[in-house]
Amino acid sequence: MKKIFLVALSIWSASVSGQGIPRDKMDPATTEVWDLKPKKITPGAQPGEAPSDAIILFDGKDLSAWSSAKGGDARWEVKDGAMTIVKGTGDIKTKQAFGDFQLHIEWRAPEKVEGEGQGRGNSGIFLQERYELQVLDSYESATYSNGQAGSIYKQSIPLVNACRKPGEWQAYDVIFTAPRFSENGRVITPAYVTVLHNGVVIQNNTQIIGPSEFKGMPVYQPHGKASIKLQDHGNPVSYRNVWLREL
Ligand code: MG
Repeated sequence: MKKIFLVALSIWSASVSGQGIPRDKMDPATTEVWDLKPKKITPGAQPGEAPSDAIILFDGKDLSAWSSAKGGDARWEVKDGAMTIVKGTGDIKTKQAFGDFQLHIEWRAPEKVEGEGQGRGNSGIFLQERYELQVLDSYESATYSNGQAGSIYKQSIPLVNACRKPGEWQAYDVIFTAPRFSENGRVITPAYVTVLHNGVVIQNNTQIIGPSEFKGMPVYQPHGKASIKLQDHGNPVSYRNVWLREL
């Protein structure tokens, strides 16, 4: 779309500034773009359903798109169309690496409420293996605000708390723009993320200031495309209907 806009802009500037034609005498066809067409896709029949150009990362059947973050097979439990963290099996990550993307992912904190704060229904979605979008049971549980569900962990508080009750399925829709680095490793542009939680905007083009750190301030390290990583924080959080579109 950016390309189309630039083409339109160049036509516009040539005809407006170049020739000095008054607007009311202009031909509207000079600012119409016909030869570049967006690819036609079929959207999902329902909100949250994968469109035809999505990469299906988890369809409820198997973990074939995932491996253990430590290497080897992902060992989370697949049952009833969901994958659930098996404590101690470790984080899992997609076999494929991604740059800019749209991600849809559904998650569920355990119905049986155990623990408090960061110990209750904790998992996380690490965008490009580094930038954590927090998954946590924040329905009725106190923790630091920049660590609750929907936060960019320890960086950005969600605009609202759109959590459903533990045991209910919830959705994140994520639009992520990867950071750009120069050849010598400097940040040209940081990462940006927009997140909808159960259809509600909770991060609006939020600037990510670096990789998520438990202690201290983040510092960017240059990297290329990377996986989506899901955190084993020891709680049996489940995921389903995970798909991604590269942008
Ligand atoms: Mg977490």
